[in-house]
Amino acid sequence: MNYKMSYWLMRILGVGGILVMLIGGATGRTMLGGIGVVCVLAGTIQTSFFYHCPHCKRDLPKRSLPSKCPYCKKPLG
Ligand SMILES: [Zn+2]
Repeated sequence: MNYKMSYWLMRILGVGGILVMLIGGATGRTMLGGIGVVCVLAGTIQTSFFYHCPHCKRDLPKRSLPSKCPYCKKPLG
């Protein structure tokens, strides 16, 4: 998995997980809330393994997908 996939996975799992949590909360399904928490956590945790610069291996900023690395200034992907 590369940093781009990792970024989108973080986004999708983050937003999806929160939605699932909200639905679980609104409908009183604790199970669904748990799944939402797991999704958000999985999305966050995988970034510490995959979401870093392919050149210098430093962690990239999670706020947005940068087009070049803020540390070594090399263009990403
Ligand atoms: Zn770099």
